[in-house]
Amino acid sequence: MVFDYIVIGGGSAGAIIARRLADANIGSVALIEAGPRDEGVPAMMDISRLFELDSSTDWGFLARPTRQSSRHLNYSRAKMLGGCGNHNDCAYLVPPREDFDAWRELGGKGWSGADVIPYFDRLEARITVERRPENHPFSKAFIRAGEELGLAKVDFRSKVEPGIGMLALNAHGRFRSSSSVAYLHPLASLPPNLGILTETLVNRIEFTDRVATACITDKGRIAARREIILCAGGIQSPQLLMVSGIGDAADLRAHDIEVVHNSPGVGKHLLDHYTVPVIFETATPVPDWDITPYEAVAMLKTSPDARSADSQVQFGMTAGWFNGRFGDEYHPSAPKGRSIIALEPNIAISRSHGTVKITSPDIRIAPAIDMNYLSDADRYDEDVLLRAIDFCRRMGKTESFGRIVTKELLPGPEVAGEELLRNYIRNNCQTYYHASGTCRLGSERDPGAVLTPDLKVKGVVGLRVCDASVFPAMVSVNINATVMMVGEKAADMIVDDAK
Ligand SMILES: Cc1cc2nc3c(=O)[nH]c(=O)nc-3n(C[C@H](O)[C@H](O)[C@H](O)COP(=O)(O)OP(=O)(O)OC[C@H]3O[C@@H](n4cnc5c(N)ncnc54)[C@H](O)[C@@H]3O)c2cc1C
Repeated sequence: MVFDYIVIGGGSAGAIIARRLADANIGSVALIEAGPRDEGVPAMMDISRLFELDSSTDWGFLARPTRQSSRHLNYSRAKMLGGCGNHNDCAYLVPPREDFDAWRELGGKGWSGADVIPYFDRLEARITVERRPENHPFSKAFIRAGEELGLAKVDFRSKVEPGIGMLALNAHGRFRSSSSVAYLHPLASLPPNLGILTETLVNRIEFTDRVATACITDKGRIAARREIILCAGGIQSPQLLMVSGIGDAADLRAHDIEVVHNSPGVGKHLLDHYTVPVIFETATPVPDWDITPYEAVAMLKTSPDARSADSQVQFGMTAGWFNGRFGDEYHPSAPKGRSIIALEPNIAISRSHGTVKITSPDIRIAPAIDMNYLSDADRYDEDVLLRAIDFCRRMGKTESFGRIVTKELLPGPEVAGEELLRNYIRNNCQTYYHASGTCRLGSERDPGAVLTPDLKVKGVVGLRVCDASVFPAMVSVNINATVMMVGEKAADMIVDDAK
C-alpha cells in the first residue's frame, strides 16, 4: 500500500490532521490507528457511560510517580479512534495567552498567544463547546465555598484567570464532540482520498537515507510518498521514534537499535498535571449528576509572587476516578462509595520533568514511564501543592461546604502541620493524565529540542510529530483543547509546504 501522507495515531490531534489534509486535496492520506473504530459505541460517545469502557481500549501503562516510589500509577492512554479525546471528561479550557508567549520564548517561533488564537477559532468552528449549567447542589456548594474564601466567580469559557466557576465541555449534551466525532464522523462519508486503517499497529517507521519512507505495521508495510505525521501521543510518539532509531544514541545502542539520528531530547522533558486530592465525606450520598462528576473548577493564585493562577482545583463529585475507573488504586485506604467528594489541586505549570524510556526495541513492550513528580530543586511544586491543599481543606470548613461535608477523610485530621503534610504529599501524587512535552519543539540551535517550530523531526526528512508531545512547556489548564489546536496548526503547516 502507498499513500502520499501517513498519519500515525487517530487521537485528539491525528484525527484533525488526517481530515484537514484530505480536505485540502494535496494527495492521498492514510490514518493508522491501533485501536478500534469509535462511531456508535455508547461508552465512547456518551460521556456519562465512559465507566463502561474496559481494559481492551486502554494501553494499560504503568508510571512511577516519583523516583523514590515503588508504587505505580495506572497511566491510562486510550487505544481507539479518537484517542484519549474519547475517554476523557471533555473539560474544555483555552489557556491564557501568556502560556503560549512562553512557548515563543522557548524557541517556538509562530506559537505565541497571538499566533495560536486563530487555530483555536478554527477548532471551535468545528467542535461543539457547551457551558455546564450551575444546577447541581454540590457544584453550587463548591462555588459558594470558594467565594466565601474570596475567589471571584469566573466564566472559564471566556477567560482563564484566578477564580471559581463551572466548566465548559467539548460536547453536545452528553455526547462528546471529540476530534474524531467532529472531523471524521460519519465514517461512511469520508472523502475518497482518506483511508482509515484501524486495529493496525505501527511497529516502526522506516528510513531510507534519513528520509521517512514507510510504516512497518502488523498488517504489512505502508509507504508514504511525501510525509509521515506521528500523532501517537505524549508516551508513544517518543517510543515510536526511539524504536525507529531516533533518540539518545547510547540508549538506542543498548537495545541494538540502529541509530538514524542522535536526538538526546526524545522522551525527556515529560510534563504532566498532578494532584494530591483532599477528600471529604458527605452527609448524604452525592445527588446524581447528569453528565460528568467533574463540572466545576477553581484556579488559585496560591502565592502573591505568582504571575497568575498557579494551581487548578478540579472538583470531583466522586473519588472513584482512580479506584473505579481504570482499576487504579487511589490510596491504600481510599474511601469507596457515593458519600464522598474530592478536591483535586494541581500545579498549573509544574517545574518537575520526567522521562519515557524504551525497555525493548519491540513497540508492544511498554516503555518505562518515570513521572519524576516533586523533583524540582527549589521545591516549587511541593510548595504550590502545600498551599493549594491548605486552601482546599479550608474550603471544607466554610459554611457552604459545612452543609454537605461531615469530615475530611484524606489527608485526614491526623495529618496536621507542615512536615506531616509534606510527607503525605510525597506519598500520594496522582495524575490528571496530561502526559506531554516528550518531543518538544524549539529552535534549531537547541540540542534538547526534538522538533523545529514547524514540528519537523530534526536530523531526518519527511517526518513530523504533531500531538501533546510537542509542548515546549506545560499550559496551565487541561490540555486537550491545546492538543487539538496543535492538530489544526500542524495541518496548516503541512498543507502550506505542499503548495
Ligand atoms: C482519563 C483521561 C481524562 C482526561 N480528561 C481530560 C479533560 O477532561 N480535558 C482535557 O483537556 N484533557 C483531558 N485529558 C487529556 C487529553 O485527553 C489528552 O492529553 C489528549 O487527548 C492527547 O491527545 P494526543 O493526540 O496527544 O494523543 P491521543 O489522543 O492519546 O492519541 C494517540 C493515538 O495514537 C494511537 N497509537 C499509539 N501508538 C500507536 C501505534 N504504534 N500504532 C498505531 N496507533 C498508535 C493511540 O491508540 C491513540 O488513539 C484526559 C486524559 C485522560 C487519559
